[in-house]
Amino acid sequence: MNTSIAFLGLGHMGGPMALNLVKAGYIVTGFDLMPAAIEAAQASGLTVAETAAQAVAGADVVITMFPTGRHVIDAYSGSAHTPGLLSIAKPGTLFIDSSTIAVDDAKLAHDLAVEAGHLNVDAPVSGGVVGATAGTLAFMVGASAADFAIAEPILATMGARIVHCGDPSAGQAAKICNNMILGISMIAVSEAFVLGEKLGLTHQALFDVASTASGQCWALTTNCPVPGPVPTSPANRDYQPGFAGALMAKDLGLALNALESTGVAAELGPIAAKIYRRFADENGSGVDFSGIINDIRDNSTA
Ligand code: NAD
Repeated sequence: MNTSIAFLGLGHMGGPMALNLVKAGYIVTGFDLMPAAIEAAQASGLTVAETAAQAVAGADVVITMFPTGRHVIDAYSGSAHTPGLLSIAKPGTLFIDSSTIAVDDAKLAHDLAVEAGHLNVDAPVSGGVVGATAGTLAFMVGASAADFAIAEPILATMGARIVHCGDPSAGQAAKICNNMILGISMIAVSEAFVLGEKLGLTHQALFDVASTASGQCWALTTNCPVPGPVPTSPANRDYQPGFAGALMAKDLGLALNALESTGVAAELGPIAAKIYRRFADENGSGVDFSGIINDIRDNSTA
């Protein structure tokens, strides 16, 4: 396979995703702004360029996995001091953005890429670091049918499920809706465990019932907020992420903006956004989002 891919953003998710592309036979050149991310990527066997421009020049595909929409737009467009990726890439390059960003930012990124003579799809992911490492991510893709057909085999080397959600930005719309469900359900599961503690239930007993009853959900059965029932969940390693509180606060902020701009009469989404904003601002920014259970315990009366 001679397709060359520039992979920018080698953080928790991007690093392992880039490695899966290498394993599938693609020629991958990575880049990150953080020395620690570069070192970790090199140690794992990835080829890393000294600048973003070096990684992107000549690449057939550019994948970005950045924290926010601002990072994506700035990297695409550049600044007074740094040329934008869109101006460096060869004509007709496929830009895939897998970061979780606002729908409006995804639309802007798409328009900028197309104006510069490139292809662009939004392809945010679900499945966390575990899925990124195992190559089992779920990709939610916003793209024209033609662009989706080009992107799909590349995404399939990093994911187990690739869903074409609709036109450009539809992938981000799906991601925001999914994570609103996740944020709300993690709060619900955590409140239930703390209530169970107060009522004298063991964690295992509640898990054994709810995981096979109508309370079953990913927040319970994969990312269980108490140690024990699911040995791989972040609760078993002192809530190291996983999916950091700062990212959940960010995603629920995107959901909140979208709820407001569309006028949806949602009540739980805005409450979850407020809870995770407080969690991230106080001490949960770098903690797995399931650590919200400790706040619920701490704020409960004896
Ligand atoms: P991260 O902070 O670990 O990694 C992001 C990396 O992007 C950082 O290393 C940063 O230095 C780099 N970066 C920023 N601007 C750059 C630029 N211009 N050029 C090169 N590198 C640049 O974040 P993450 O956990 O890997 O998440 C990345 C995205 O994926 C976020 O949008 C997040 O919401 C989403 N996401 C994360 C998870 C998860 O479990 N961590 C799950 C699903 C989706």
